[in-house]
Amino acid sequence: AAKSEGRRTYRFFMPEMDTKAKARHELATELKRAVAERAFQLHFQPLVDLNSGAVAGCEALLRWPHPVRGFVSPAEFIPLAEDIGLIEELGEWVLEQACGVAVGWPAAMTVAVNVSPIQFRRATFPLKVAAALARSGLAAHRLELEITEALLLQDTESTLTILNQLRALGVKIALDDFGTGYSSLSYLHRFPIDKIKIDKSFVDTLTDQAGSAPIVRAIVQIAAAGNKTTLAEGVETAAQRDLLRQLGCQQMQGYLFSPALPAEALARLIAGGDVETNSASRRATSTV
Ligand code: C2E
Ligand code: MG
Ligand code: MG
Ligand code: MG
Repeated sequence: AAKSEGRRTYRFFMPEMDTKAKARHELATELKRAVAERAFQLHFQPLVDLNSGAVAGCEALLRWPHPVRGFVSPAEFIPLAEDIGLIEELGEWVLEQACGVAVGWPAAMTVAVNVSPIQFRRATFPLKVAAALARSGLAAHRLELEITEALLLQDTESTLTILNQLRALGVKIALDDFGTGYSSLSYLHRFPIDKIKIDKSFVDTLTDQAGSAPIVRAIVQIAAAGNKTTLAEGVETAAQRDLLRQLGCQQMQGYLFSPALPAEALARLIAGGDVETNSASRRATSTV
């Protein structure tokens, strides 16, 4: 009985695995072609100063318009690009594009670029960053590189070396998705990091009874003690924004203000002037 049960499981399981592997292989083939043809778009999501309401900068977010599947989520194709050895080429394209677009923005605005750990650990990475800055003419302090906590937990020495090389260029470093990666608040000060991006999961539960507000307060205080800026990710409600402001968080990013936009739409938003007024009127019109 056990044997036939096992065989049945086997028969049920294999075709599904096969389908998944096929789908993945297909997507990998299409991704290879897309990278070769540079068939991507870069969108930009505003990072907003919580006190002034001004757009302090934008995060560049990669978009892959797939002919059949519509926009494929970067959460799906970035790990694939890492697995099949495409992330360096893709990441380099993002860096070049982001710098090239940001150089046209008001000089006070920064651009944040997500960096894959694989890309970060290549010995040539700081050179690639320097080249992108030189080619675009973007001032180094206007480029912010977003890295994740995992990088701080492994190969600490080499991470520090690369971070110091990047800092020497004048670029800023932000720690993305902070609080999700099991790193400890207590050693943050050991790394040359300029900004901490508090993960959306903390923002989601911020206004709950016994929610994350005390944790966010602690992060903000430790960051301030180390002269680091704090930004809250995924802010969707005015209540979250108001509490974050109260807790001393300096910047926010989220659908409350704006999703990621194509470069032209973002330029129109910036040209619209007082962005706080814009978002206030957008809120007013969406409130029935
Ligand atoms: P991330 O760096 O944490 O980027 C923020 C993600 O949250 C973006 O998703 C953004 O669209 C989304 N988001 C922003 N505000 C809100 C909100 O209020 N509510 C909700 N529900 N979501 C919000 P996206 O664009 O799908 O990107 C997902 C992840 O893919 C990014 O997370 C980043 O880790 C990665 N990624 C995107 N572009 C690149 C890239 O050029 N290079 C690399 N290495 N990774 C990238
Ligand atoms: Mg990011
Ligand atoms: Mg993030
Ligand atoms: Mg995130």
